[in-house]
Amino acid sequence: MKVTGLRCRICGKEFPPEALYTCDNCFGPLEVKYDWEWIKNRVSREKIEKGPKSLWRYKDFLPVDGEPVDLGAGFTRFIRASNLGEELGLKNLFLIDDSTNPTYSFKDRVVSVAVTKAREFGMKAVGCASTGNLAGSIAAHAAKARLPAYIFVPRGIEKNKIIQALVHGANVIEVDGTYDDANRIATEVAEEHPDWGFVNINLRPFYAEGSKTLAYEAAERLGWTLPDQVVVPMASGALLCAIYRGFRDLERVGLVDEKDVVFNGSQPHGLPISRAVKLGTRVEPVRKMDTIVHSLAIGNPADGIFAKEIIEKTGGYAEDPADREAIEGIKLLAKTEGIFTELAGGVTVAGLKRLVEEGRIDRSDVVVAYLTGNGLKTGEAIVDYLDDTLKIRPRLEDFEEVIA
Ligand SMILES: [Zn+2]
Repeated sequence: MKVTGLRCRICGKEFPPEALYTCDNCFGPLEVKYDWEWIKNRVSREKIEKGPKSLWRYKDFLPVDGEPVDLGAGFTRFIRASNLGEELGLKNLFLIDDSTNPTYSFKDRVVSVAVTKAREFGMKAVGCASTGNLAGSIAAHAAKARLPAYIFVPRGIEKNKIIQALVHGANVIEVDGTYDDANRIATEVAEEHPDWGFVNINLRPFYAEGSKTLAYEAAERLGWTLPDQVVVPMASGALLCAIYRGFRDLERVGLVDEKDVVFNGSQPHGLPISRAVKLGTRVEPVRKMDTIVHSLAIGNPADGIFAKEIIEKTGGYAEDPADREAIEGIKLLAKTEGIFTELAGGVTVAGLKRLVEEGRIDRSDVVVAYLTGNGLKTGEAIVDYLDDTLKIRPRLEDFEEVIA
């Protein structure tokens, strides 16, 4: 058996591998526990390299047994970013570009694993509270799995944010309240319907494992070596923790040599994890969040304490760029590498830029930075910061004049 159970990340209490997510002893979050001998006996570099060109090439490391619900997520573009590197002063900068996933964000990795698990558990529906990438990804994977999807959104949400969910046939429930109200009702529904899988609630321990593939891919594409440093955008902090676990997994089964990878996070200004790292304090919830980067704006980050611990013990840092820097980050990436990333990706690039400027990353370090989603979804947030069109009458001399 690959998955032997679940374990509390705070007190260590163990549970059976079921749709559970909170420790009944200390209310801590649960994580998946594996039989590493089982995995070690089955994985090899050659087997992975012959596998599908999706995250399912790493199936031996993922907490599912059945046939995957697979839209082709993962194994996205791995780019040697020599232009952006030159601009920033880095010789070995690499990007994982998840804007090219099936629904255009990294959420396809976690959702593909969670919906596969929901089907394995025999669940009758899937759902979440979301206003963005997660909603679109769940709706698409639920369609593929032929399961109904229930997506809870706050009152007055703009239609363009839920077009993806609606087109895939999800039930989109507009709650008369804020995002927090939508999230609370989703949690209540999850408890009332234990045979429905809410991907970031009762399936959370399994769901989170999908992000580990972002570590496996970096290592495989660096010729089965680990980078010197990584730069990861942070919302709940779960992504950074998963990438850390992913590198440890590869070391544990001997697919890569051990190496101390430095973990850096980036979060919009004023949010809890970066603030705690910068001030050297505990991760405290933040009520009021003043940022346009809504996808990273989590006031009470579930994995905050764990992310901070990893950043500190690996000698990394957490940057907190302003919104304006995130937009400049989007434009810099777009103009140097031809990639249009979302605001969270802009936060990554802005954080990377600061890390280099502050001398925290050396010029020759092998750096992997993670771009989590596609800019076309958040185009309206940056349109006012772009140059306007050059206007001319239909005359050659007008053209020559405006470009002079
Ligand atoms: Zn516990």
